[in-house]
Amino acid sequence: MSDCLFCKIAGGEIPSNKVYEDDLCYAFYDIDPQAPTHFLVIPKAHIPSVAAVDASNAPVVAHIFTVIAKVTKELGLTSYRVVSNIGEQAGQSVFHLHFHVLAGRDLTWPPG
Ligand code: AMP
Ligand code: ZN
Repeated sequence: MSDCLFCKIAGGEIPSNKVYEDDLCYAFYDIDPQAPTHFLVIPKAHIPSVAAVDASNAPVVAHIFTVIAKVTKELGLTSYRVVSNIGEQAGQSVFHLHFHVLAGRDLTWPPG
């Protein structure tokens, strides 16, 4: 999508601090970290949110979770949280599917 921030980041049009990249997905550090380690994993293809996941794009979502498992191991993270906000009331501010990966501090439950 031409005016989507995360499409531009995935395409290299807007700079980011890369954690991982392959043909299907891109991971980069959050610009406003909420934990000592905070990065985002996104599909390269535009999907608005978890609410738009269906049988046609589910394989990339499954792939993203294999990437999260691999990258967190490589970073030495043994405890972390994966979060995706869906819709404005839940705090979604960028409408391109992304999974937050947060680690490095005690994370409270339930989240606020
Ligand atoms: P959400 O509010 O769940 O939609 O998450 C969007 C996240 O994107 C927020 O945590 C922002 O800090 C992060 N963000 C916004 N712009 C950038 C950027 N240019 N580079 C890295 N992270 C960003
Ligand atoms: Zn997009």
